[in-house]
Amino acid sequence: MARFKRILLKLSGESLMGKQGYGIDPERLGAYARQIKEIHQMGVQIGIVIGGGNIFRGLSGATKGFDRVKGDQMGMCATVINSLALSSALGAEGVKNKVLTAIRMEPIGEFFSKWKAIEAMEAGYVCIFSAGTGSPYFTTDTGSSLRGIEIEADVMLKGTRVDGIYTADPEKDPTATKFDDITYNEILTRGLKVMDLTAVTMCNENNLPIYVFNMDVEGNLKRVIEGENIGTYVHS
Ligand code: UDP
Repeated sequence: MARFKRILLKLSGESLMGKQGYGIDPERLGAYARQIKEIHQMGVQIGIVIGGGNIFRGLSGATKGFDRVKGDQMGMCATVINSLALSSALGAEGVKNKVLTAIRMEPIGEFFSKWKAIEAMEAGYVCIFSAGTGSPYFTTDTGSSLRGIEIEADVMLKGTRVDGIYTADPEKDPTATKFDDITYNEILTRGLKVMDLTAVTMCNENNLPIYVFNMDVEGNLKRVIEGENIGTYVHS
């Protein structure tokens, strides 16, 4: 039995690089598509936001002399590239899906609207929401919270390469301990760098719970949907 009826899954662009230093690792992409297929077969309605950090980030572009707004627009285009790659991989697995874009760019994808998205998900399509919020100075974490709230998802599942939220970065601090659950406010007061603060605040204000888990282990997405406690639950 699925614990959630409709989810917003956030995947980081950086994870998509897999073992490579840049771009898209076809193995990782295929593994993501297989995991998504597994929960699609359970009848879960799925919206996905994928980042672009494996290709371009506006903020790091700005430090190299790019105009920030143009850099962010490049970053948003990077999310579209990743979304098309995921769409293609899902198609290869036989999963019906649609790419919707936050910026008009037909025929690459249809322009996003809440109702279009819900109608497609109810008809069994996985919807991939690309180009973030469509505006510079935001991240795809905020794009995910926005789309998650708009599509009335039961939860935002944040798939990362770490198995939850820790008191400190577990890749740097071996004494860091993991939270099974945590409140939005505690994330803010402890200054934990799980997601950007705009995204956490939006989820808090609109009661969208977040579940952080390790998506790089195959089968984990299904485990979360089945209610196994393998990550960290964020709530009010
Ligand atoms: N971006 C943006 N507005 C948005 C979402 C993303 O300008 O609403 C740009 C921003 O430059 C960001 C880049 O797209 O750095 C890639 O997104 P993100 O860094 O969130 O990707 P991730 O870290 O998840 O791979």
